[in-house]
Amino acid sequence: MPSNHELIERAKRVQLQNYRPAPFVLTRGEGRRLFDVEGKSYLDFAAGIAVVSVGHGHPRLAKAIAEQAARLMHTSNLFYNDRGIELAERVTKRTGVFSRAFLCNSGAEANEAMLKLSRRYHFDRGDKERVEIIACEKSFHGRTYGALSVTGQPKYHEGMAPLLPGIHIVPFGDLDAMRKVVGKRTAAVLVEPVQGEGGIVVGSADYLRGLRELCTERGALLLFDEVQTCYARTGPFLAREHTGVIPDLCSLAKGIGGGFPLGAMLATEAFANALPPGSHATTFGGNPLAAAAALAVLDIFDEENLVEHAKQVGSYLGDRLGSLTDLAAVNEARGLGLLRGVELAADVDPTATLAAARDRALLLSLAGGNVLRFSPPITVTRAEIDEAIEIARRVLESAPKKA
Ligand SMILES: *Cc1c(COP(=O)(O)O)cnc(C)c1O
Repeated sequence: MPSNHELIERAKRVQLQNYRPAPFVLTRGEGRRLFDVEGKSYLDFAAGIAVVSVGHGHPRLAKAIAEQAARLMHTSNLFYNDRGIELAERVTKRTGVFSRAFLCNSGAEANEAMLKLSRRYHFDRGDKERVEIIACEKSFHGRTYGALSVTGQPKYHEGMAPLLPGIHIVPFGDLDAMRKVVGKRTAAVLVEPVQGEGGIVVGSADYLRGLRELCTERGALLLFDEVQTCYARTGPFLAREHTGVIPDLCSLAKGIGGGFPLGAMLATEAFANALPPGSHATTFGGNPLAAAAALAVLDIFDEENLVEHAKQVGSYLGDRLGSLTDLAAVNEARGLGLLRGVELAADVDPTATLAAARDRALLLSLAGGNVLRFSPPITVTRAEIDEAIEIARRVLESAPKKA
């Protein structure tokens, strides 16, 4: 076996240098543990950015993928396939409020579908002026040009102009700001019910209900980006359940394939025909292999009662993180369920703190620049939460300061 160092040297020679990965090379995972090429183990509270919902190496998921790979992997959208149909049925039914699904391969793609459907919907109704999309500051919707244009974080726009026209960005959580911009030209309002990358910021019930009312009243669609919050990440199956708000369209990705790349746009029945044949498509989306993975994830959610589990361990994680706020290095602990953030004090170096946790074999990720994100697999246990908190406390007690 080559060493971490050898492999990283090779990576540096051949991979495009657009990332800053941790200085080791992962080769294996089991439950909430990851192992690098030298055999060192890590407690995984990053979960591949809130993706690995059922844990690493789940036997049922691995078996479903292997069996489907041997049976039928790809058909394209020229043909129906049994697994794609079954997944559309199961996932919409599971939400209780959506009846239509468009399957794709990533979060950005699911958001592109929402943006395109929104404009096309108004266009087909003869309302050709309704082309504008309103989104929020500190939002994150993905890296493709449409999704990037509605992402309210200027750092991601640097050197990428010109972006998509017809976008307005307003502060998140500010209903009055929204009232000022939503009008006759608004095709849709797009929000994350809980902002993830922006720093784990929970949208209040008043705000999200207010948006629903405003959009209905002014004829704009309401779009929820639940790419990060779906599949019990915040407790309930979808984060929208915290407030009861039903958006017109909703994007899912991250957790739905348990690590297999997959996205979905869900819609209420009124939008069943809003994208006429030929208006939008994907070659790989909804392929039987990805669908089989997602079906196995839904089976595991049922069998292991993961929504209920997420609510219980999620509130436990919240309590335990709350206990860290006595430390000088911590400003605040916030979030919902198993999507939690610890905001660091102004003098603490976030990147160095992340590295210090890593050195103690706890993997976390950063959100919003100065927030340590805790997003373990949904299958995480209380004992593992205790272990993570103990490491986090030790790291934060002597948190590295900014230079
Ligand atoms: C990760 C994320 C995306 C982008 O998903 P990709 O699969 O990376 O394209 C979009 N929206 C939210 C809220 C996300 O967290």
